[in-house]
Amino acid sequence: MLREVGFLNMGYCLIDSSQLVTGDAPGNVVRIPIWAYLLRGDDALMLVDTGMPEGCVGNERYFGEMEPGELILPQMDAADRVDRVLARRGLKLSDIDAVIMTHGHFDHAGGSGLFREARVLVHPAELAALRAEAQAPAWIDLGLRYEAVTDGAEPLPGVRLIHTPGHTPGHMSVHLAPQGGRPILLAVDAVYTRRNWDADIPGAMWDAQAGRRSVARLREIALSGADVFFGHDPAQAEEPLWRDRIG
Ligand SMILES: [Zn+2]
Repeated sequence: MLREVGFLNMGYCLIDSSQLVTGDAPGNVVRIPIWAYLLRGDDALMLVDTGMPEGCVGNERYFGEMEPGELILPQMDAADRVDRVLARRGLKLSDIDAVIMTHGHFDHAGGSGLFREARVLVHPAELAALRAEAQAPAWIDLGLRYEAVTDGAEPLPGVRLIHTPGHTPGHMSVHLAPQGGRPILLAVDAVYTRRNWDADIPGAMWDAQAGRRSVARLREIALSGADVFFGHDPAQAEEPLWRDRIG
């Protein structure tokens, strides 16, 4: 049974909105939140994503010089490190039984290297893509205890993984059915913001066609009665429905 879902803010990024919403003219910078999620089951604690890498702490220029339209400036304090975020909830890294890595990008897998003991659940297509790169990104440690999970896997009762390729090859969204509450659909980066969802505008995609199919699938799941939480919406956490849940 899924007893509790915790929304963990892991810092922010300044990003050119043309990277979030395809078709937006470059030059408009927005501040987006980075999220991870804590899942408390009857006898297991799991984390969905791990925030940004430590190298981003106090370092907006983590990615060096960028063209204005490609701007990504991480805004991360030491307090946003995943070990510190967990500590504020009275948890140690070793309390986490498994990390669900939705995909390998820096704002989702950045802290995964800190989890030496946990199982790291990842879609095989994502892991294959990371392994195929001549040099894996600096924040990816290929020596973790990776475990391949495919579409429909239920790492905890009430937690179902949904393979939503498009943003990356092995991207996963997560369906949560907490005890006594309405289901939550964590779209993660299959849908960045409410604008992408409402106006059906894609965000950054590795495979746009696959991405469209993934969004269609998430819409079907949402229709079945799940509230959708987007990957990086600048304002969703302030909406009454979510303010109550995020606390
Ligand atoms: Zn992201």
